[in-house]
Amino acid sequence: MVLSPPMKRGNATLSGYGTTIFEAMSALAREHQAVNLGQGFPDDKGTLTLRQAAAAYVVEGHNQYPPMMGMPALRQAVSAHAARCYDLTVDWQTEVLITSGATEALLDCFLGLLEVGDEVVLLEPAYDTYAPVIRRLGAIPRAVRLVPPSWALPIDELRAAFSAKTKLLVLNSPMNPTGKVFTRDELAVLAKLCIDHDAFAVCDEVYEHLTFGPSHIPLATLPGMRERTARIGSAGKTFSITGWKVGYITAPSAMLQPITKAHQFATFTTPPNLQHAVALGLGFEKAFFDALGDPLARSRDRLRTGLERLGIPTLPCDGTYFLVLDIAKWQQPGEDDIAFCKRLVLEAGVVLIPMSAFYESNAPTNLVRACFCKADATLDAALERLAPFVTAG
Ligand code: PMP
Ligand code: GLN
Repeated sequence: MVLSPPMKRGNATLSGYGTTIFEAMSALAREHQAVNLGQGFPDDKGTLTLRQAAAAYVVEGHNQYPPMMGMPALRQAVSAHAARCYDLTVDWQTEVLITSGATEALLDCFLGLLEVGDEVVLLEPAYDTYAPVIRRLGAIPRAVRLVPPSWALPIDELRAAFSAKTKLLVLNSPMNPTGKVFTRDELAVLAKLCIDHDAFAVCDEVYEHLTFGPSHIPLATLPGMRERTARIGSAGKTFSITGWKVGYITAPSAMLQPITKAHQFATFTTPPNLQHAVALGLGFEKAFFDALGDPLARSRDRLRTGLERLGIPTLPCDGTYFLVLDIAKWQQPGEDDIAFCKRLVLEAGVVLIPMSAFYESNAPTNLVRACFCKADATLDAALERLAPFVTAG
């Protein structure tokens, strides 16, 4: 008997999105043996103490479900880290949730806080998971575009985006892909708008320790914001272990409750050995976290200097793994940033990320993102391959 395939279709909103640009470009890099400055992951193996602790914990046999909110040792470490680094008081029992990466944390926040028809203020360019999930939930993203090259916050447009319908603001600082670290003055404007409109803030702070000059200021530390803010961190970035997917949320208990419901129905928990190891890591002294930006700043400078020598303009970058380049001079007539990046793989053997991936529509077409959390040899290899491409163009 020949069975016919089902006539019904999967969810229309999600079916309308392609495979993420990071996955697509990493696949292209593998296919063409290109130097991959696309997806944001470090070349290094990750903090050794944590790798050893995670391995030992598995071998010792701690392999069953940990508590749903997260292992007490890790929740205590998250709370102590917030106090040590930002003077934020967080109750580890009611105000901390451990998640399977910041990606799950964001999903939990959106699932737990949004209703159909709610509006969400986003700052574009925005990390690529926010808008699709918000739309899938029947909520409405209201994107406000930062203005390059300094990625300035357009205050009038920001004010216009907030209304009585605004349920929450999503803020990513330090910001992927721009490398912008929001200043206290900018945060004060955002805080006032949240307070005036009784909106929550979901703060994606995965790059909290990866800054090169201006320190990261959590929005939750501004007056009136702690009680309405969910602060999200990721061990992946802090300890150079992006594949582990251990994230955390701190939020006031009433706000965290519906978010925790989302977590309990989504993943319920996160592998115990990884939680155990991250608890050790978050327990490191403040000097460890303060020094994390130094090697990255050197890598940013190595890439930026090399690109500038080739005549490729770069935009300012004070944090994260990413540098934005202006490639207008090398684009063919009518070629957008996606087509440019694909051609670059074939002609130069270098993978970069088109910035339009971080916009819902009408994106600038002359900007691309390069990831610099790589070994010197990787950065140098990319620059060597770009040299003949740039000269030929
Ligand atoms: N937010 C931003 C801004 C990111 O760049 C990333 C990428 N890792 C994430 C969230 C997801 O973090 P995780 O890997 O912990 O899920
Ligand atoms: N955050 C990473 C980046 O911006 C990608 C993570 C992913 O592939 N989902 O490159």
